[in-house]
Amino acid sequence: MKVFVIDMKDCVGCHNCQVGCKDEHCGQAWLPYAEAQPEVGQFWCKVDQTERGKRPHVKVSYQPRICQHCDNAPCIKAAPDAVYKREDGLVIIDPDKARGNKKIVASCPYNVIYWNESLQLPQKCTGCAHLLDGDHPISVPRCVDNCHLGIIKFGEESEFDLSGMEVLHPEYGTKPRVYYTALPRKFVAGTVYDPEAEEVYVGAKATLSGEAGTFSVITDSWGDFWLRNLPDADFTLTIEAAGKTKSMAVSTKTADVGLGDIAV
Ligand code: SF4
Ligand code: SF4
Repeated sequence: MKVFVIDMKDCVGCHNCQVGCKDEHCGQAWLPYAEAQPEVGQFWCKVDQTERGKRPHVKVSYQPRICQHCDNAPCIKAAPDAVYKREDGLVIIDPDKARGNKKIVASCPYNVIYWNESLQLPQKCTGCAHLLDGDHPISVPRCVDNCHLGIIKFGEESEFDLSGMEVLHPEYGTKPRVYYTALPRKFVAGTVYDPEAEEVYVGAKATLSGEAGTFSVITDSWGDFWLRNLPDADFTLTIEAAGKTKSMAVSTKTADVGLGDIAV
C-alpha cells in the first residue's frame, strides 16, 4: 500500500505542487478515475497559507493539503457504491457512479471534495492514479513530480520510516495515508524593554511554565524572544530582566501568541 509523506520543514510555499495538479487535471479527463478539474474553484492539491501571531511577531506557515486517502474513509461510507479504495490505497470517486450525489462532498472532514455544478459531480485528488497505472514516464502523482524541493514523497509504506510522523486530525479516526513531518507548533514571542532607559533588554530571560512543561529562552540583540514548538496549553510567562520580574498568563490553546512590546 502506498503513502504520501510531506516534510513541512522546508516547504517554501511556492505552490508548484498546486500548479502541477492544475496542469495535470484541468481540461483533461482521466477516466475511469476523474473527469476534468475545472480551471477555477477547485484545488485537488492546495497549499494552505496561515499567518500566525500578531505584528510585529508574525510567521507564515505553508501546508500542502490533498485527499488523505483514508483507510477508514467517511466518503466511502457515505457512498459505497460510488467511492472505492484501490489496492494501492488510493481512494477514488467514480465519476460515473457518483454523478448527482452531492452528499459525498459533505462527508469529508478534511474538506477536500469539491462540487462540479456543471457536471453535477463530486471531485477530488485521485493521487494521479492514471500516472501510476502502466508504464507512464511520470510514475508518481504530479504534485510529487512538481515539487522541486522534494517535500512531497510518494511510495510504498515500507520505504519510509513513519515513526514519529503525524497525520492530520487523528481524532477523526479516518486513518489517513498522508503523513506529515514538522507540522507547525505554536509560538509565544515578544520584545522586552526598559521604559525608563528606552532601551530593549538583551539577555533577558523569558520562561513559560505550566502543566505542559517549562520552556525558557533569552532575548536577542533586538530584545526579542521566541519560544517555539510549544504544545497547546495554558502557561504563565515570566520575564526576568536586570533584577526585575514580570509575569502574565498566556495561552497557546487556540493560536500563536505575539505579545508585542513588554515593559519590565
Ligand atoms: Fe475521503 Fe476526505 Fe478521506 Fe479523502 S480525505 S479519503 S475525500 S474522507
Ligand atoms: Fe511546498 Fe514543494 Fe508545494 Fe512548493 S511545491 S509549496 S515547496 S510542497
